[in-house]
Amino acid sequence: MTSYNTSGKIPVPDTRIQYIRAGDEPAIFKAKWVIKDPWTLLENAGIAVAGGRITAVLDSVPSGPSVTDCGPGILMPPLVNAHMHLELSALADRLPLGKGFEPWVAALLKERDSIGIPGLARAARRAIDAFPGQGTGLVGEISTLGITRSLLSDRGMAGVWFHEYLGTGHPDLTLSADRPLSVSAAGHAPHTTSPDLLGFLKDRTQQRGLVFSLHVAESDAEMAFMAGNNRQWHDFLVQRGIDPSDWPVGNNNTPVMYLNDLGVLGPGTLAVHLLQVTALDLDLLADTRTRICLCPRSNQNLHGRIPDIPALLKRHLAPALGTDSLASCGSLSLFDEMRFVRQHYPVVSPADILAMATKNGALALGMADRFGTLDPEKQSEFIYLDSGASSRDQVLEKVTCHGTD
Ligand SMILES: [Zn+2]
Repeated sequence: MTSYNTSGKIPVPDTRIQYIRAGDEPAIFKAKWVIKDPWTLLENAGIAVAGGRITAVLDSVPSGPSVTDCGPGILMPPLVNAHMHLELSALADRLPLGKGFEPWVAALLKERDSIGIPGLARAARRAIDAFPGQGTGLVGEISTLGITRSLLSDRGMAGVWFHEYLGTGHPDLTLSADRPLSVSAAGHAPHTTSPDLLGFLKDRTQQRGLVFSLHVAESDAEMAFMAGNNRQWHDFLVQRGIDPSDWPVGNNNTPVMYLNDLGVLGPGTLAVHLLQVTALDLDLLADTRTRICLCPRSNQNLHGRIPDIPALLKRHLAPALGTDSLASCGSLSLFDEMRFVRQHYPVVSPADILAMATKNGALALGMADRFGTLDPEKQSEFIYLDSGASSRDQVLEKVTCHGTD
């Protein structure tokens, strides 16, 4: 959907997507197709709104002055990008992809320092301004440098801003369950963040009823270190002033087993990536009702592999979708991410794919009371996709194949 010009990934708006934020006045929006949720499609239907909330989903729409006919396309819930790093937006097209994860990380740190905070903030702001044109209404943003919270709140974006920590210690946390943008904390990953710090972050966010997030089971280095077979990574941490000698790694543990032993899995934890999981890992994730988020395009670019979505769906793990950052992915568009999933997982149904980009994402971020479907009491925000579908079967095809990246 969103295309980019050749200089610096400045998004060119997709005129076929309209982001609708209804005001407080009572009104009705109708369209040829209304996707209430991935499994409920209505024809010639409408959405009634008032006071910033959806008040009713209408099977048939009376004519009247308060009715806006959006057209022959598709009215649907805003998309949810449950995992991204806006601070890396300025690194688009500046890093080596397909040459391994370690060279990518090294180049990322060097380039990020050379750009500086003002340049990183400018690119992040451009990426945020592109969200409505990409149909994105709710975000999970991971911030290492702390520069994107005000950028998101200035634009009135809804979501969770996660301040990310790694290493050791107990940082001073600023947490807030306010809407539309909550402030929570994230650990980086089990192989970069001490077990003590992970437990601290999990406890504090849980006390405030906030979602805690971290990357899990992504790189080969992480897998080997958690299993107790990566002395090189141990030495790398020591060089950076982090002593992992007393971390309970080893015994061929997987990252998921390790986190389960630490007690940081659970319904308030959002585990991102899960690129390498065993059958036991799937049991642990399902038993603890841990939320999960996948970023398949980024995984393909950085690791040359993609997660086993059918296995995760089979265990009812309700994966959300994210894009990671423009440093590892061609766009922050969920339409593009859905299209990638459609192309690479022919056995996954379009309804499941749309659920990943809407309902599951809202659940993952703890905001399903306001986003994810077009049900009464949800926020009166929706997107209109000006893409004609001549039959019911075509609607979800159009939605999940709309992206271009
Ligand atoms: Zn990430």
